[in-house]
Amino acid sequence: MGLRKVTQRVYYLINDRETDRPVLGYIKGDKYALMVDAGNSKKHLEKFNDSIEKLNLRLPDYVAITHWHWDHTYGMHSVTGKTIACEITNEQLKVMSKWKWTDDAMKKRLLTGEDIEFADTNIRKEYENLNDINVVPADIVFKNNLEVELGGLKVILKNVVSPHSKDSVIVYIPEERVVFIGDAYGMDYYNNCEYNAVKLESLINMLGGLEFDVCFPGHSSPINKTEIIEYLKSQYNKISVGNE
Ligand SMILES: [Zn+2]
Repeated sequence: MGLRKVTQRVYYLINDRETDRPVLGYIKGDKYALMVDAGNSKKHLEKFNDSIEKLNLRLPDYVAITHWHWDHTYGMHSVTGKTIACEITNEQLKVMSKWKWTDDAMKKRLLTGEDIEFADTNIRKEYENLNDINVVPADIVFKNNLEVELGGLKVILKNVVSPHSKDSVIVYIPEERVVFIGDAYGMDYYNNCEYNAVKLESLINMLGGLEFDVCFPGHSSPINKTEIIEYLKSQYNKISVGNE
């Protein structure tokens, strides 16, 4: 299945649970195009680029990264445009760029907690040859917020408080009333699956104050504002009950 159009200038490639491939976004300005997340491998990226070319659209000039997790970043080395990440994401990308991809090294990282079983399993499924993994840092690094002007269309990248990871970045396109939230809505798999209520509440409030009609979670179909807020509130209520 190829790229789907959601608004006049926003498209996406749906996620694929088979090897934990996340949603990839495409935002088309008059001059430049921006991709949301780089995919989990060169193959994933190529699938995205193929579907762009089929629609006669330009390949991305920029690729904005929502957070450091492998499924969103390991395609970075093979993108055509400049990659953009927040500082916290980039620090972890630098760490991972030094990781070795032998069976032994991977197993050790599971023992130290540097990596997790779920990622390990899916990495082994996505990569026939583990030596194809090539983690690289970003070309453009920002702190807190960054605005990217695509020509008649503004994209805002914002590092937000989220229960999923410290480096969670949302990609907001006010004129299209669309927001990509990556995995910001999920628990922190790298910290014993902690689902922090205070951070979740902060995310709910942030999204509540943002004007949008379409929200893209990283690993499911797009939903509207009411649906994402209701979902997060129900999650919040579950956590709060669990802590009583
Ligand atoms: Zn993630």
